Amino acid sequence: MEALIRQHARIALQVSGGRDSLACLFLLRPWWDKLTVYWLNSGDAFPEVAEIMAKVRALVPHFVEVDGRQPDIIRQHGIPSDIVPASATPIGIMGQGGGALIQGRYDCCWRVLMQPLHQRMRDDGITLLARGQKNADALKSPLRDGDVLDGFTYLFPIQDWSEEQVDAYLATQEIQPGPFYASMGSTPDCMTCSAWWDENRAQYLKARHPAHYALYQQRLDQIQQAVSGHLEAFNREVTA
Ligand code: SF4
Repeated sequence: MEALIRQHARIALQVSGGRDSLACLFLLRPWWDKLTVYWLNSGDAFPEVAEIMAKVRALVPHFVEVDGRQPDIIRQHGIPSDIVPASATPIGIMGQGGGALIQGRYDCCWRVLMQPLHQRMRDDGITLLARGQKNADALKSPLRDGDVLDGFTYLFPIQDWSEEQVDAYLATQEIQPGPFYASMGSTPDCMTCSAWWDENRAQYLKARHPAHYALYQQRLDQIQQAVSGHLEAFNREVTA
């Protein structure tokens, strides 16, 4: 890692506030003066995450917060969902006259999280990009540690670690991960996200953030209304 870091003048560490990125942050401590920590604040971040990131900001010499503008993106492109019915797309709404505008979750994440962060890496001339991606992650980029793509060299210092190794390492650093892991599998980027249904967001929101829970449920109701007719038609067809 030392040799690789020496080769680069512009180094980014992308930190989400989750335990993997925090493990990376502390692993890279000897090189903090050489790297910049980037946090993509979705614009709908949990206050628990904002608190963690405020501590990180105070710790490291170079910190950049990138604005994800999630509320604007949802206003413009619709509420995110794991299922997008044809009637809830811009053309569907135009042709069928109404209903909630819905976008796919990956489209939403691209617009809010990935694109602005990627653009900032480009604007800042970053050439070495570190992330807390692990091979054990269910969802991960196809890139691996040491890969070079599009002018970026990727550094995944904990690529081969298990979740247990991450937790054990954080304990040695006396780092308490965020409170999400008791009920959710990860640290979510957006409080009111109406997609990523397998994240178990409802129970957490209901217990800790009732106002955001109400908005979340309202969005799920809109998705249910938009999807149900399509599902009924699909089920009729598939069993015919
Ligand atoms: S987490 Fe949800 S609301 Fe946030 S960017 Fe991704 S899909 Fe959109």
